[in-house]
Amino acid sequence: MRIVVLAGGIGGARFLRGLKRAAPDAEITVIGNTGDDIHLFGLKVCPDLDTVMYTLGGGIDEEQGWGRADETFRVKEELGAYGVGPEWFGLGDRDFATHIVRTQMLAAGYPLSAVTEALCARWKPGVTLLPMSDDRIETHVAVEVDGERKAVHFQEYWVRLRASVPAEAVVPVGAEQAEPAPGVLAAIAAADVILFPPSNPVVSIGTILAVPGIREAIAEAGVPVVGLSPIVGDAPVRGMADKVLAAVGVEATAAAVAAHYGSGLLDGWLVDTVDAGAVAEVEAAGIRCRAVPLMMTGPDATAAMAGEALALAAEVRG
Ligand code: GDP
Ligand code: CA
Repeated sequence: MRIVVLAGGIGGARFLRGLKRAAPDAEITVIGNTGDDIHLFGLKVCPDLDTVMYTLGGGIDEEQGWGRADETFRVKEELGAYGVGPEWFGLGDRDFATHIVRTQMLAAGYPLSAVTEALCARWKPGVTLLPMSDDRIETHVAVEVDGERKAVHFQEYWVRLRASVPAEAVVPVGAEQAEPAPGVLAAIAAADVILFPPSNPVVSIGTILAVPGIREAIAEAGVPVVGLSPIVGDAPVRGMADKVLAAVGVEATAAAVAAHYGSGLLDGWLVDTVDAGAVAEVEAAGIRCRAVPLMMTGPDATAAMAGEALALAAEVRG
């Protein structure tokens, strides 16, 4: 079975670990979000690709959900001693090595997809990890700070401001001119099932879908497309997805997120058991819906979620 998964960072990565357990023989291709990418200290940082790579490769800080395990912050301290920031973005010493290798390869002319493949040769994530595009795309968020309207990089909004001011708009800058990375459209065309893990619908999956050609390819693939809600009990399980959903005019409910993707894209949608009351509404919108436990509390629970997603895919395939 060939499975394609569109993934952001933590939600996508943890789900993928469960999927590998639920479908050990599947060939899994991950299309990773690169809209969160940022240049820091002259280095190219790809937070979502790295979260997937470290999580599946066994290098992740489990508790935090991002960054390397057993991390130290000597380099950051030294940069701070020079007064060189930003100090709000946590880059550890071990993590720095990844960004140095990536930046060096990019400077030598390799596209991001080739660089990601090279980094994965070390981590062996057990999936094919593709960036959504080799072209530079950066998510910017329009905010009003002290009466002044301005656009800030997504990381500044998320990490420095902790989404504490309303997002007025979310723009994947550069997406319109971008092309899917090599292998992305072919993987979608060859897929038996396409999954949207419980990743952020706006700044993770929404950004991937904003790369021209990807949304169309998924809609036209003719295979089941099944998603899992990142919203449980009318709130994000983790993080501040409600803030960016508001920016696109979508309520923070499992049903509203399904409607946002729409029946033209989604065939099936899983909501948590606490949202069982939303099933009828989602089905009325033309999307097959089931209520199952959706909390990724551990490997077994997450594998069971992935199993439910594949079962729903089989059901809609008929
Ligand atoms: P990010 O790039 O690190 O923000 O990660 P993603 O975009 O992949 O995923 C973030 C989303 O994962 C958030 O909106 C959370 O609500 C969701 N999430 C995190 N843990 C869980 C969980 O255990 N269950 C569900 N259903 N969603 C989760
Ligand atoms: Ca992210």
